Amino acid sequence: MNDQGETRQSKRQIAAHPRHWAFWGQRTRLKVYLLITEVIAVGAMIWFGLTTPAPTSDDWFRFTVLAVCATVHIQLSRRQEERRRSTRKPTVHIDLTGIWSFPAVVVLPIHLALLLIVLSRTQRWFVARRPLYRFTFSAASMLLGAMVTYAVLMVFEPHTWTDLDVPGSFTQFGILLIAGVVYFVSQALVIGAGAIALSTTTPTIRTVLGTKEDNELEALTIGLGMMSAILLVNLPAALAVMVLLSVVGNRIAEVRQLQVDVRTDPKTGLLNMRGWHEAAQRALERAGRADAPAAVLMVDLDHFKSINDTWGHPAGDDVLERVAEALRTETRPSDVIGRFGGEEFVLLLPEADSGEAVTAGERIRRRIAELQVSTTDKRGGPVDISERTTSVGIAVYPDHGRALDELVQLADAAVYEAKENGRDQVRVAAR
Ligand code: GH3
Ligand code: MG
Ligand code: MG
Repeated sequence: MNDQGETRQSKRQIAAHPRHWAFWGQRTRLKVYLLITEVIAVGAMIWFGLTTPAPTSDDWFRFTVLAVCATVHIQLSRRQEERRRSTRKPTVHIDLTGIWSFPAVVVLPIHLALLLIVLSRTQRWFVARRPLYRFTFSAASMLLGAMVTYAVLMVFEPHTWTDLDVPGSFTQFGILLIAGVVYFVSQALVIGAGAIALSTTTPTIRTVLGTKEDNELEALTIGLGMMSAILLVNLPAALAVMVLLSVVGNRIAEVRQLQVDVRTDPKTGLLNMRGWHEAAQRALERAGRADAPAAVLMVDLDHFKSINDTWGHPAGDDVLERVAEALRTETRPSDVIGRFGGEEFVLLLPEADSGEAVTAGERIRRRIAELQVSTTDKRGGPVDISERTTSVGIAVYPDHGRALDELVQLADAAVYEAKENGRDQVRVAAR
């Protein structure tokens, strides 16, 4: 699940007394959504619990095998979970425990599958203590995904994987594939809708559907879960290999996280200069091939130092975060946004000519002026920062130059002209 909307407060106050639960500080629509999801999950669990026949000894054996595997996996990957907990803006959600819950859903009676999910979630909770409402929500989404998948599987005959002819094996694989897709999609829907309820502004495709990395990881998890299901029925001892794969999978996931991190500015979640340069260079080359224009915008907040001097650096940081958010909402998904340094941001707008770039620059300048940043002053008291002005400099490809560095330099020079001209304005570079 995506954590972008999480406030700093909610990170600090992690489930002490119910009165201090971060849950209460969330927006109403999120609270309503979480409660509805959880009530549905609990209601469905009770219903399935009452209507599903008692487990056989075979079921209990398979349940025990999966529970042991999940426990070993979770305990051997607790380091990664702890590290993830300590980063401020986690992006890739490393949770591969679906490797064990998916086979449980496919092979076990549903109440045992739900019990397995509750068991592994509870262990995770002790490793990575996050606000309780997030923990219960992610548990609810997994439980709901499991129950929906189980309900879909009930349409088909119970499987007999031990004795299949060739056509039968294809049919069974097809059913397994359907189960995998349903499991994937149902969780994505619950979590995606949660992201909409959670997000502070307009939801983006990325916050709703998750990043490419998130989805690849989820697909990997379910793929491995399919293998686990087959092994569980036919060769349970071989699940030891799956435990190894799951722990290594967690490591690989962490490496992917680091790959994202080296291109990301931790304070704002925007691209850092390394990431921006790579992406902007690619976009510029595309513009060159398509014979289309592209604009570089340099955005520099006016008198930013005075925010730090008056209210302290944490207040300045909060303003930077909100400005980053404003830049994201005021641009298109194809625009490349980076943090150039301190309180300067740089954008590459593909296909924007000089006129369109000025329109975008004005929109950004106005949007930042409209921001109301609720933060704390030097003594920790509440303060609202608003009516901040911004200077924007623009250079356009190919009119002003062809190389990215040249365009950045010219946009920067235009910012200085805007500053000299009284700040709070958008300025296009001289030709
Ligand atoms: P101007 O209108 O001329 O742009 O004035 P300014 O104060 O915005 O520009 P100046 O370059 O003099 O100062 C930039 C300030 O930004 C100085 C520095 O303390 C602050 N700053 C840079 N990075 C950060 C950051 O990450 N957090 C905070 N809180 N402040 C930062
Ligand atoms: Mg500056
Ligand atoms: Mg400045």
